[in-house]
Amino acid sequence: MGLTIVLSSNNKHKLQEIKAILKNIDINILTPEELNIPHQEVVEDGATYYENAIKKASSIAKYTTYPVMSDDSGLEIEALDNKPGINSARFAKSLGGYDCAFEYIFKSLGDNKRNARFVCHIALCNVKKEPLVFKGECVGKIACKILGDNGFGYDPIFIPNNFNCSFAQLNSNQKNSISHRSDAIKKMVKYLKENNLM
Ligand code: IMP
Repeated sequence: MGLTIVLSSNNKHKLQEIKAILKNIDINILTPEELNIPHQEVVEDGATYYENAIKKASSIAKYTTYPVMSDDSGLEIEALDNKPGINSARFAKSLGGYDCAFEYIFKSLGDNKRNARFVCHIALCNVKKEPLVFKGECVGKIACKILGDNGFGYDPIFIPNNFNCSFAQLNSNQKNSISHRSDAIKKMVKYLKENNLM
C-alpha cells in the first residue's frame, strides 16, 4: 500500500525530482490537482526557508487528511553574503532570467572564493500536531562558466564537492543521489520509518 503524501508545489522540476528520489521507497506522491484541491498562490514572504516551507505545506494541509509536504530551497554563495538564498527564484526573475543571473554572479564573484551550497527545507504537515521540518544541503563551488543543460535553475553553475562537473552535467540519478533535496528527503523517510508512520 505505502504512504500517500501530497506535494504542495507549483514547480514541476521539484515534483519530478521528488518523485524520482522516492521511486524505490513506499511513498506515493499526489499533487493537489489530483485531489481537486483549489490552486493556492502562496506569498513566500517568510524570513527563512523554514517559514516558507511551512507556509506552502499548510496552505494545502487544510484541504486534506493526507500528509502534505513542501520544499523551500535556494543557492547560497559565500562571497555574496549567502545570496541569493531564499530569494533564489525571485533574484533570477528580477534580472531577466537564469542566464542573466549567471552573468551577474560571475561578474560579482570576480576572483573571490567560489564556495556555495544548495539548501533545502522540507516541511511535512498532517503527521504531528505541529509541522515537521527536515533540512538538507549540498556543498560545492560556483563554476567559472555555464556548464551543461540538465536539471533546472542554478544547476549549470553549481559544482558539487567531489565532482568536476556541474549539477547540470550529471544525469538525474546522479544529482538525486547527492542533492540538498535528497538529503532532506532521506531525513524525512528516516523519521517516518523510525516512528512507524510508514
Ligand atoms: P522556492 O520555490 O522559493 O523554493 O525556490 C527555489 C529556487 O531555488 C528555485 O526556483 C531555483 O532558483 C533554486 N533552486 C532550488 N533548488 C535547486 C536545484 O536543485 N537546482 C537549481 N536551482 C535550485
